[in-house]
Amino acid sequence: MTGIVYKSTGSWYSVKGDDGKFYNARIKGVFKIDDITSTNPIAVGDAVEFETENEGEASVIITKIGDRKNYVARQSPRAKHAHHIVAANLDQSLMLATIKEPRTSQGFIDRFLVACEMYHVPAIVVFNKTDVYKEKDWKEFERLKTIYEAVGYKAFAMSLKERKGLDEIKETLKEKTTLISGHSGVGKSSFINAVIPDSKIKTQDVSGWSGKGQHTTTFAEMYDLPFDGKLIDTPGMREFGLVDVKKEELSGYFPEMRARLNDCQFNNCQHINEPGCAIKQAVIDGEIDEDRYVSYVNILESLKDHEW
Ligand code: GDP
Ligand code: ZN
Repeated sequence: MTGIVYKSTGSWYSVKGDDGKFYNARIKGVFKIDDITSTNPIAVGDAVEFETENEGEASVIITKIGDRKNYVARQSPRAKHAHHIVAANLDQSLMLATIKEPRTSQGFIDRFLVACEMYHVPAIVVFNKTDVYKEKDWKEFERLKTIYEAVGYKAFAMSLKERKGLDEIKETLKEKTTLISGHSGVGKSSFINAVIPDSKIKTQDVSGWSGKGQHTTTFAEMYDLPFDGKLIDTPGMREFGLVDVKKEELSGYFPEMRARLNDCQFNNCQHINEPGCAIKQAVIDGEIDEDRYVSYVNILESLKDHEW
């Protein structure tokens, strides 16, 4: 039978078969996929073939993995130079952010967007908790929305508390498999509960956002939406991607920079101090947002510290 992986705990997988039933599955032997070194051969979202090990048993054996359309990975928690595949076969990735309580930094959002570019996954940014926004917070939202839409990302505002803006976001989830991420306290669990009333995900208490977060697992899990579509939650995961971004590739993951790279005087330009840099000129001319450029510089710096 064929099916899709809904949950992975490392050694066991929950697979939804084409018959609509869930099976406990495991793998036998060694799977090698493409040339990726990963600590998990199978991830949530993978299409698999499986067979029953012993007649009458509920557990099954995965025998084959289908080709992946795409995947996102992070650094393996167990091996420094290996990847951990977070999820596969995504249509889009949604970051839940907040302007306040707590504030999501633009740098954090931009790192997420770089990772999405790297893995060729369309990105959406949703700003939650609009019920607590004052005038200046709305201005900040409008500023960010303008920046992100100009470079090709969707941006929305929502209040889960007041149930505002949710319908428009649900529309974007229809018929799609969406990976959802966001740092602790932004309302990710509340969001999943709002779109999937029977998901039974625990939310934090009122003061929860200032805490360290109560999630203990870091295994991704997929949920069927009550309308057509799937949501993949990544509990406890701060960020994915940027595992093996090379410094010279980074500007290619900023769409507004990618369009101008041929205009730099040097083809290995890192857009910091080089003469004839079209990117810095575009920042000066106001054609590239200064904060996006700052994020670029900060991410570039962070890559220098990595060994890979
Ligand atoms: P998670 O850590 O991202 O999963 O966030 P939770 O869903 O647990 O929510 C964190 C806190 O934010 C809880 O106290 C929620 O009640 C609160 N929260 C969620 N959505 C909203 C919202 O739209 N407005 C306000 N004011 N608080 C919210
Ligand atoms: Zn340059």
